[in-house]
Amino acid sequence: MLVGATGLGRDLAGAVATQLKTGLTVDCTGLAIDDRGFLLQTRPAFGGNIMATILTERNRPQMASVRPHVMPMPEKDTSRKGEIIRESVPVKEEDIAVKVLEIIEGGKEGVDVAAADVIVSGGRGMCASENFSILQELADELGGVVGCSRAVVEAGWMPVERQVGQTGKTVRPKIYVACGISGAIQHLVGMQTSDVVIAINTDQHAPIFEVATYGIVGDVFKVIPAITSRIRESRAKRAS
Ligand SMILES: Cc1cc2nc3c(=O)[nH]c(=O)nc-3n(C[C@H](O)[C@H](O)[C@H](O)COP(=O)(O)OP(=O)(O)OC[C@H]3O[C@@H](n4cnc5c(N)ncnc54)[C@H](O)[C@@H]3O)c2cc1C
Repeated sequence: MLVGATGLGRDLAGAVATQLKTGLTVDCTGLAIDDRGFLLQTRPAFGGNIMATILTERNRPQMASVRPHVMPMPEKDTSRKGEIIRESVPVKEEDIAVKVLEIIEGGKEGVDVAAADVIVSGGRGMCASENFSILQELADELGGVVGCSRAVVEAGWMPVERQVGQTGKTVRPKIYVACGISGAIQHLVGMQTSDVVIAINTDQHAPIFEVATYGIVGDVFKVIPAITSRIRESRAKRAS
């Protein structure tokens, strides 16, 4: 049984697994079925230091939840038909122990990194909150948004809604530009399936380069303004 790890899905999957007395692997980053019919449920474990593949060997159903954007969207296959069975479940108000008193919208600035096609993301290498303006300028040129690592959120440089990674958002943009981000596994699990990853880091051995499509060993404070001004120049040339 596969459940989307959305706000509602997280709530529902745990409750259903408890009722059915079966296992549930949440926030899987990979799923497969082996030749014995076991669902191989892969997710980061032990603080993201290892990738664990978990099996539900003795109980049924096998249950897993997956965060949005973790899996690639497959081509639509119109030859496949499925039967939708609608069940009505009569629930009385008094059966529900939880009451929603108020819904407070998060991310008041209206930026959803998970939905963006282009993300220019900054890490601790950006050194200070005000330096994120150069990332915003590049993001504006590319029609994208600014994201960040957890180190940046912990430093108070960016709000938590912008955090990419295991405890932040899982993203799958067309272009992910990682600026001054080392590439810790907890960050990589949130962005490594991006179509194109461009990494800029002064340390040529930074793990981010292992998942990068293009790597630039250099100083973000030189490289980013140079890319932005090159984009502006070529736009101006095309317009004239
Ligand atoms: C349970 C758990 C969950 C976590 N969840 C997340 C998560 O969701 N997301 C996340 O990001 N992290 C997460 N982390 C933290 C993660 O382990 C790392 O600590 C964090 O990602 C490091 O952030 P960083 O790459 O910005 O900083 P650092 O690791 O300090 O890297 C900074 C990089 O900047 C480079 N640099 C410095 N100056 C420059 C310059 N001028 N130009 C170019 N490069 C420069 C350095 O070479 C370095 O590689 C989690 C950790 C745990 C234990």
